[in-house]
Amino acid sequence: MRYGIFSDVHSNLEALEAVLKAYEQEKVGQYYCAGDIVGYAADPRECVAKVSSLPGTAVAGNHDWAAAGLFPSEYFNSFARQAIAWTKSTLSESSGLGYLAALQLVCRNPDLVLAHGTLHGPQFFDYMLGFSEAAATFAALGQDNICFVGHTHVAGIIIRDESGGMRQETGGSCRIVKGKKYIVNVGSVGQPRDRDPRAAYCVYDSEASMVSIKRVAYDIRKAAGKIAENGLPAYLGERLLTGT
Ligand code: ZN
Repeated sequence: MRYGIFSDVHSNLEALEAVLKAYEQEKVGQYYCAGDIVGYAADPRECVAKVSSLPGTAVAGNHDWAAAGLFPSEYFNSFARQAIAWTKSTLSESSGLGYLAALQLVCRNPDLVLAHGTLHGPQFFDYMLGFSEAAATFAALGQDNICFVGHTHVAGIIIRDESGGMRQETGGSCRIVKGKKYIVNVGSVGQPRDRDPRAAYCVYDSEASMVSIKRVAYDIRKAAGKIAENGLPAYLGERLLTGT
């Protein structure tokens, strides 16, 4: 199976459309979203509609559950809190909140495991920042060998070899080798924070045992303009231009 795995769309429709167009060249059969479909940008309804109509599945991100009233918004900074309140007021039960509330924290299939932040404590939405969090998530993987996450908005791959040693790669392509274990952070579609403002997305070919993290340009000014027009904090648009 060729999987299109992406995360942190954050209501950025222009970025999501660019990624879905790029996936058309990739012969993807299933789409897996690692959470945070909403929050920050101006098109939550359209982004939920697009993601929910794809063949595949999605797990819950902290912004998804906060908008749905399932995660307390005091855990967020003021920009994020304002965007969550706006998102909540924009969506109805049938135009997104019901879908977001029903998202599960973890998805497992024979080819992969998917969670938003970490696998060892998905309900806490902690960040996969380094090897100590990775060690706990590798332990939670059990017999499975590859876990996909998002949440940090920075793509990268942490690899654990047979002896337990870990190393990190920043992106690009990676061959999946039997006996090793992998945590793949697919980065962010709608708000990258690695100083590359292009949308990030991942292709995982489970038969060819290859993971690739890719980038695609999109109309950032249009997305940023809509953020300002809707009364969301202008900073949330400005940061898209710099990828920070
Ligand atoms: Zn996010």
